[in-house]
Amino acid sequence: MSRKTARPTKNLKPCSSKHEAVPAPSDVHSLQVWGGPGQGAPCDLCRNEIGPGEVDYEVEAIVDGQPRALHFHIRCFELWKTGTDAA
Ligand SMILES: [Zn+2]
Repeated sequence: MSRKTARPTKNLKPCSSKHEAVPAPSDVHSLQVWGGPGQGAPCDLCRNEIGPGEVDYEVEAIVDGQPRALHFHIRCFELWKTGTDAA
């Protein structure tokens, strides 16, 4: 007996429903790294705001084929590069 195989599309998980985890450095093709004054953007590692008195490390990267900008505190950038989880 043959049956049609229905493919339920509702299986697809929306990936934006929970906060995006920071991609592993090995998954990131970084194009450029900038250091500049913080502008209140949330750090991608510790999730805390990078304030004006701190340095914002911005990584211009390709993640999963998509351009993405990652923001880090200096120490978080170092932690991220070495694969350590700040939390
Ligand atoms: Zn941080």
